[in-house]
Amino acid sequence: MLSDILDGKCFKLVCGAGNEDAAEVEKLVALYYAAGCRFFDVSAKPEIVDAAKRALKGREAYICVSVGIKGDPHVNKARIDYEKCVGCGKCDEICPQGAIKYHKVKTIRCIGCGRCAKVCSKGAVSYISQEVDLREVLPPLIEKGIDCIELHAMNDNDAETMEKWAYINKVFNGMLSICTARGKLSDEKMISQIKEMIAERKPMTTIIQADGFPMSGGRDDYKTTLQAVATAELVQNENLPVYIMLSGGTNSKTAELAQLCWINYHGIAVGTFARKLVKKYIERSDFLTNEKVFNEAAGVAKSLVYRV
Ligand code: SF4
Ligand code: SF4
Repeated sequence: MLSDILDGKCFKLVCGAGNEDAAEVEKLVALYYAAGCRFFDVSAKPEIVDAAKRALKGREAYICVSVGIKGDPHVNKARIDYEKCVGCGKCDEICPQGAIKYHKVKTIRCIGCGRCAKVCSKGAVSYISQEVDLREVLPPLIEKGIDCIELHAMNDNDAETMEKWAYINKVFNGMLSICTARGKLSDEKMISQIKEMIAERKPMTTIIQADGFPMSGGRDDYKTTLQAVATAELVQNENLPVYIMLSGGTNSKTAELAQLCWINYHGIAVGTFARKLVKKYIERSDFLTNEKVFNEAAGVAKSLVYRV
């Protein structure tokens, strides 16, 4: 059961809520499974869940699908306005997903991290929030067999959050995860929203994914992971019957910093940094068939998984 690995300290690989590149997801899941990871967070699309299952080959591991409410960055996709774009290429250079090539956005790879808009001095990048109807999206995924549903609730639209949360609770009987951060919510608001969301749930059936700065990982230093630890501490201080998972700027320093700060976390979810660490291997077309390359990459991934 998923709760078994959460009762130890587990590593969750975040393939990206917005990452709809099935070939990449298959490679990432195969690689991080070989490195010891047993919990995988993927986009809520049938073809992506299929890709993860293909990589797992029936071996025991847990799949979480991520859905978001409108406005949450995890469900944003970048768009370039060519009336304003001067083709400088800065967005291309900064994109951690390789989602921009020759000033064009490959939407299936975009995770909505926001880096491209930050570097664009022409204001040419905007974001479209991908709205999904959970009533259409979730039933086929539940049918396929998933272990957890995560709702990205980084928005102060309480009505939408609670409406989507109520529906997820109605149709899915397993572990749920609330991915939340302080960016758009005050500390008090974040905690009161969590309390409201877990009020009707059985103890220890909910993960609170404390998202420091969403999708900010990439650098392997203490500063980058500080907000994930600080957000987890806020949740821990409430003594709620939930599992606490750190995310948002997580890297190989997260576990050490969390332990120094006396955070009794149940897991660490790593996305951007975990993907960056193995990027040069994953990009190879022979990655899944070249045993030498795969094993070398697994060694690199293992060095991160075992830091948790
Ligand atoms: S950074 Fe802005 S101006 Fe430069 S290529 Fe990207 S969208 Fe165009
Ligand atoms: S930088 Fe981030 S938001 Fe921009 S295209 Fe790349 S993944 Fe998408």
